[in-house]
Amino acid sequence: MRIDLHTHSRVSDGTDTPTTLVMKAFQADLDVIALTDHDTFGGILEAQEAGKRIGVKVVCGLEMSTEVEGRAVHLLGYGCDTYNRDLGEELGRIRHGRSARLPQMVQKLNECGLELTMDDVTRVAMGSPAMGRPHVADALVEKGYVADRDEAFTEWLAEDRPGYVKRYACSLERGIELIHGAKGVAVIAHPWARRGREVIDAPYLQQLIDTYGLEGIEVDHPDHDDESRALLFEMGGRLGLVRTGSSDYHGLGKKNNPLGAHLTRKSAFRDLMARIKRRGGQIV
Ligand code: AMP
Ligand code: FE
Ligand code: FE
Ligand code: ZN
Repeated sequence: MRIDLHTHSRVSDGTDTPTTLVMKAFQADLDVIALTDHDTFGGILEAQEAGKRIGVKVVCGLEMSTEVEGRAVHLLGYGCDTYNRDLGEELGRIRHGRSARLPQMVQKLNECGLELTMDDVTRVAMGSPAMGRPHVADALVEKGYVADRDEAFTEWLAEDRPGYVKRYACSLERGIELIHGAKGVAVIAHPWARRGREVIDAPYLQQLIDTYGLEGIEVDHPDHDDESRALLFEMGGRLGLVRTGSSDYHGLGKKNNPLGAHLTRKSAFRDLMARIKRRGGQIV
């Protein structure tokens, strides 16, 4: 059984429609995927409908933008009630924070001599309700200033680059509470990607488990090297966490993340479903 629990569609910053994503998952011989768009459930219904037609199970997912000590930490929510009001309101605030700072980013880029307008960004975002830096990156690619998203981030958009403007995110703890309030299960995405190791360690995870009921960590992910994966696997096992694996597929937006690049073990998937069931959420 091939299971990939973290993928993005065009509804956030992937490049495939939810339907195309499911078709590609079928072609990649996947039995189960989770659609985990950033800060929105907007693609879930379409993906699940497509999944029924095509024969791929689609887990309802979400990748929420949270922070720890001012550093971005992504939190995956599985099996949530997508109509939950408290979660929906917070996601709205996060999406607003994400898009509301884009005009400032465009202005900073203009000051650096790059000609770019908000219209250019809106056009490449193709109606995404979760507009953010990846769409500014796409606009820079379209204008010919950079070759791809990666170069746009390294040169202009990363935290220490001239086009960056910080935005609102809720705390990791609050994110876990909101996901649980919506009957879902919370798994920290790629905890050791981008220097995450400096903020997420075993004592902190233990505290999140004891106080907030955190259920899992993503272990097998393209942004983790072999050593990190081995250490996280061991740590997660010791703490009794569900250990997941995924590609973090973004279509053409992340060229090194093909569907199925990493997988979730069947036993971990079963554990995840059992935990969602206990919380009263949606299982597949
Ligand atoms: P934002 O939420 O607007 O600050 O944008 C952050 C998003 O940009 C992350 O969720 C990633 O999906 C994406 N991202 C971050 N770094 C890169 C990179 N080097 N290449 C492509 N996408 C990236
Ligand atoms: Fe992304
Ligand atoms: Fe992420
Ligand atoms: Zn992701």
